[in-house]
Amino acid sequence: MATAFRDLQPDDYQPAEQHPQNGVIIGGPAARAKRIEYGILLSAMTFGSLGALYWTLTHSTGWVEWSAFLFGFVLINMGVGIGYHRYFTHRAFEAGPKMRLAIGIMAQMSCQHSVLKWAADHRRHHAFSDRVGDLHSPYVDGHGKKMSKWKGLGIAHFGWLFDNTTSDMKVYGKGLIDDPQVLWCHKHRWSIAIFSSIILPALWALALGGPEHIIGTILIGGLFRNFFFLNFVMGVNSIGHVFGSQRFKTKDGSRNNWFMAWMTFGDGWHNNHHQHPRAASSQIAWWEIDVNGYIIYLWEKMGLVWNVQRAPTYVRTASGGWEQLKVKAEPAEPEIMSADDGGVMFRKSSEKIEEPAE
Ligand SMILES: [Zn+2]
Ligand SMILES: [Zn+2]
Repeated sequence: MATAFRDLQPDDYQPAEQHPQNGVIIGGPAARAKRIEYGILLSAMTFGSLGALYWTLTHSTGWVEWSAFLFGFVLINMGVGIGYHRYFTHRAFEAGPKMRLAIGIMAQMSCQHSVLKWAADHRRHHAFSDRVGDLHSPYVDGHGKKMSKWKGLGIAHFGWLFDNTTSDMKVYGKGLIDDPQVLWCHKHRWSIAIFSSIILPALWALALGGPEHIIGTILIGGLFRNFFFLNFVMGVNSIGHVFGSQRFKTKDGSRNNWFMAWMTFGDGWHNNHHQHPRAASSQIAWWEIDVNGYIIYLWEKMGLVWNVQRAPTYVRTASGGWEQLKVKAEPAEPEIMSADDGGVMFRKSSEKIEEPAE
């Protein structure tokens, strides 16, 4: 039976070479399709941003264009953080079919491919964080080769989008490849992207300004908005694994970076996140503002989502260290997502990690 995600991974797909890590495909039509799709998305955002710059310098822009930018920024920030990341990748909470569809559409309004592809790739990141098999580590490339600091930052930011590896959907897409809402979102990803980047800003301009605001609002409140926010999402992969502080010894480079956290509504508390990947909020200390976490808690109170996962509560001890309060019986060591079960289940970090033979 043909699958609904043949464009990601054809049924008869045979990897040209075998990658040492489970569920990493090298080359072939999947990698080609990925490069083409990311090429189109990134070109549209880049040229759109240049267009936005030209437009602001040559035309008078104002609150119509920039309110569309701000509204869209908040919407796609919630979509990426709550949708792609916390729900579809990590199952930080549960939601019914209508809510799943709404969250999936909101995520894909950021134009970062489908929830299926984004979540499967991110599960692979957690399965191999900064080791061979990680798709966007600033330390090692997709084949495990060590990189210099600046090259690594470049690869982890945008370079990885165009490498020749893809994630095996049968390994990392568990619970997604048979979800009708996920498959609907995957199938309609281009329509959602065009609606979000062009049609919605155009309607916004017409409703609040007039036809003369349409082009500027599409450029600023659509394409530039996507590019601007994409840099913070990618920044969590690059900057968020190099610059910042580490509260937990997570065996990877993940860092807590307050600026990235503010700009991503919480995902920049990335070291906290690698310690407790399933938690709906990455907030541990009171000053670690996690806007998307607050929204999930609000949705929980409203009955829209349930079974919301929480990290244990920590307190600062007199000696300055962090000590776990036994809110529930959870290990204080990092939870690692294993490739063997699709990066959805967890094992303790002290359990042996099999490194592939050279
Ligand atoms: Zn990470
Ligand atoms: Zn994650």
